[in-house]
Amino acid sequence: MSSFGADLSSLNWMATRLDAALGWARKFSIFQYPFVTACCGMEYMATATSHYDMDRFGAGFPRFSPRQADVLFVVGTVSHKIAPVLKRVYDQMTEPKWVVAFGVCTCTGGFYDNYATVRGIDTIIPVDIYIPGCPPRPENVLDGLIKLQEKIAQGARVTVPQGSSARPADFETPHTPETHL
Ligand code: SF4
Repeated sequence: MSSFGADLSSLNWMATRLDAALGWARKFSIFQYPFVTACCGMEYMATATSHYDMDRFGAGFPRFSPRQADVLFVVGTVSHKIAPVLKRVYDQMTEPKWVVAFGVCTCTGGFYDNYATVRGIDTIIPVDIYIPGCPPRPENVLDGLIKLQEKIAQGARVTVPQGSSARPADFETPHTPETHL
C-alpha cells in the first residue's frame, strides 16, 4: 500500500473513532422536550421521579425550549387541532434530533377512532422509538430510552420515514399528513 493509501486509512480510522466518541457522549447527554397533552403525562412524571431515576441515563433534565432540546417526547393524545403546533416544535429543534412516541395514542391514535384524533404522530413527523401502552409503565419507558440510546450511539436516525410507518398496507388513516401543514 502506498503511503498516501496508508494516510487515508488512518484518517478513516480516526473519523470512525471520533464518530463513536460523539455517539457515546450524545447518548448520555439527552436534553428532552416534553410535549405533553393528556393522561400519559402522569406516567411520564412517574418515570422522572427518583424511584425510576431517568438521570442515571443522562436524560433527567427537560428543556422547555425546542431550540435547546435534541429528543422530543410526545406524550398523550394528539388532536388535529394541536398537530400544527407539534410540527412547529419539531421544526424548531436543531439537528441531530430524535423523536419518541410515548403511549399508544401517539403511536397509532389508540382507541380514539374519530375525526378529531391523529392516527399516529408519524403521519406528521418522523418517529425513532415507539413506546406502546395505555399508559406505558415506567419500565417500558426506560426500555424505550435505552433503545433510543443505542440508536444515538450508532449515529442512527429514523428508520420509519414520515408518513410511511411499519403499519399494514390496509391501515386506514382518515387524514393525510398534508392536513396538518
Ligand atoms: S395512551 Fe392511554 S393513558 Fe396515554 S394519553 Fe392515550 S388514553 Fe391517555
